[in-house]
Amino acid sequence: MFDKILIANRGEIACRVIETARRMGIATVAVYSDADQDALHVASADEAIRIGPAAAMESYLLGEKIIEAALATGAQAVHPGYGFLSENAGFADACADAGLTFIGPPADAIRAMGSKSEAKALMEKASVPLVPGYHGVEQDSTLLAAEAEKIGYPVLIKASAGGGGKGMRIVRTAEEFSASLDSARREAASSFGDERVLVEKYLTAPRHIEVQVFADSLGNAVYLFERDCSVQRRHQKVVEEAPAPGMTEERRAEMGEAAVAAAQAIGYQGAGTVEFIAEGDDFYFMEMNTRLQVEHPVTEMITGQDLVEWQLRVASGEALPLSQSELSISGHAFEVRLYAEDPQRDFLPATGRLLHFETPPPSRHLRLDSGVRQGDSVTVYYDPMIAKLIVWDEDRASALARLRAALTGTHIVGVTTNTAFLAAVAGHPAFAEGGVDTGFIERYAADLLPAPAPLDDQILALAALAEISAVKQEATRAAAVSGDDGSPWFQTGGWRLNGDTQRRLLFQEGDQDFAVDLRYAEGTLIEAAMPSGDTLTLQGDLREDGHLRADLNGRVVSARVLRHDQDFTVLHAGKSHVLHLLDPRNPDLAGEDEGGQLTAPMSGKIVAVRVQAGEAVEQGQVLVVLEAMKMEHSITASHDAVVSNVFYADGDLVEEGAELLSLETSED
Ligand code: ADP
Ligand code: ADP
Ligand code: MG
Repeated sequence: MFDKILIANRGEIACRVIETARRMGIATVAVYSDADQDALHVASADEAIRIGPAAAMESYLLGEKIIEAALATGAQAVHPGYGFLSENAGFADACADAGLTFIGPPADAIRAMGSKSEAKALMEKASVPLVPGYHGVEQDSTLLAAEAEKIGYPVLIKASAGGGGKGMRIVRTAEEFSASLDSARREAASSFGDERVLVEKYLTAPRHIEVQVFADSLGNAVYLFERDCSVQRRHQKVVEEAPAPGMTEERRAEMGEAAVAAAQAIGYQGAGTVEFIAEGDDFYFMEMNTRLQVEHPVTEMITGQDLVEWQLRVASGEALPLSQSELSISGHAFEVRLYAEDPQRDFLPATGRLLHFETPPPSRHLRLDSGVRQGDSVTVYYDPMIAKLIVWDEDRASALARLRAALTGTHIVGVTTNTAFLAAVAGHPAFAEGGVDTGFIERYAADLLPAPAPLDDQILALAALAEISAVKQEATRAAAVSGDDGSPWFQTGGWRLNGDTQRRLLFQEGDQDFAVDLRYAEGTLIEAAMPSGDTLTLQGDLREDGHLRADLNGRVVSARVLRHDQDFTVLHAGKSHVLHLLDPRNPDLAGEDEGGQLTAPMSGKIVAVRVQAGEAVEQGQVLVVLEAMKMEHSITASHDAVVSNVFYADGDLVEEGAELLSLETSED
């Protein structure tokens, strides 16, 4: 076994590998980019080496730098994780040339499966069932159109070199074929530098079922059963489970044996996944991923095996830990991928700082694979996956109940996430029935992506109480400091300190304003005139941890209110609202440029600096345009001012919070 390994990755998978290595007494070396200097994977490893700037092209994709780091630290082997260099045959070769063990399959096996067309040709020879289609070398447009006709519409055009759902086009009629072919080729060329495509029958209601395989260098190969990953958006997985609902023993063995045959046909070693598409009683080979898969934890939960340990043992020359007959399935597991993305905006990736990151505590039933901590940022540079929640129980229904509970107890503030969307999937009756197909999300979009719930009085009242509590607590602290905590001034409810008996709170959600008029009533009771026209009596105190037990019109409700500056995240009855409290004295400036600085609201790229130092600007004028995650954001002047300094130029990459320029107001 190795004494020391290097992990050529970041985020949750780097942390995941480090954990197993540590348990096995193997020392670990992390690599990191400038954006990841303080990242969890760096803190978790025994040693860490900087390999370059934030952009993956200049860091995590630089095989040479990574190999240099391994040699410099005396690591004997390199674990590539997934993504990045994990399916790069050239990198696997370069490791071998440098005398390092690549913890993955032989480079030739990666090559064999790297092209979906060639992989299909190989599988045909190994008698693995294929989706009817054309996967030849000939790429003439007329020939491809004729093949599509033969297959019968609808067909799917796929980039041979594809991955991550890119370069795929569904074609429903012969008339659309030529335009779709052109656009698939363009996307394939720009994403993979290879415009070759294949055409196959498009199955309209299939399930994605994949088989985990493992092979060692001694000729042994096994399958560790299947995973169902049919819940997908944009052909990418969101929820995975094992075993697949409705799977029979015969079919499991049939698919497992087909997957092992596929692996053996290419001299496979290590962990691999053979992906099948299934419809009715038929299943067809789709592709093989020659690496550990994102969703491997569900297999670990039902088999009780640690697949990273298996990878390390096989790579160091040991035999597979178990034979086929020693493997069995126990219970049921689900995994959900928590992404920084906005399901309401076509799952557009999001960025930001994780001001609050909370899940229920891990247990025998709940596993959290995460690469971030509270306070860390999700940037534009890397994959927006924040963490994975994995649950296990004796049967599917119980595991699903655990999944729902885990999601209800998950609170992320500061970054838009898909948590509520995942909870809607986990709570959907069609999903509970089991065996949904890949069209599930689209079919039930209305249920899964409901219009944002309107803001009701209760939510507003809870935010108002949180603000009152904060003012009160501030007063108590001030009293303690002043040593005069017996003074009646500090005993009463918040704002009365200032001599007022009324106060208006102005909250904002999106672009809507909500005014709550508070009036001091009896004792600690407050009367609140709500936007609906109703009046509520409020009472309650916010605890440090954000728990709020409130009495609203005599009804006691429990909620969480997490506050960050002027933003209140109210969690109540499964709903989550972010309310911004406007500063009444300075509503336009609230939350922006303190001390005349203008900072980047998120990490991104400067597409245009519209002003120069010395220039006078007016309130509302666009100063800088920032592009982050495919969207442009205009940064405007909050008041009339003169630009004193500009710190970036067009094309620069900036981190969230970076000072972009400084302003001097006329009074300064
Ligand atoms: P990638 O390399 O992007 O993962 P895959 O070939 O694995 O590409 O396909 C990704 C997803 O696209 C599958 O999980 C499935 O949902 C869908 N898909 C692929 N092939 C077909 C097909 N022939 N018919 C219907 N859906 C398909
Ligand atoms: P899988 O089949 O394992 O679900 P895909 O075939 O869709 O995964 O693609 C590889 C996976 O690697 C994706 O889930 C993608 O999100 C992830 N990935 C790609 N690049 C990175 C990265 N830089 N950091 C973390 N994850 C990544
Ligand atoms: Mg795939």
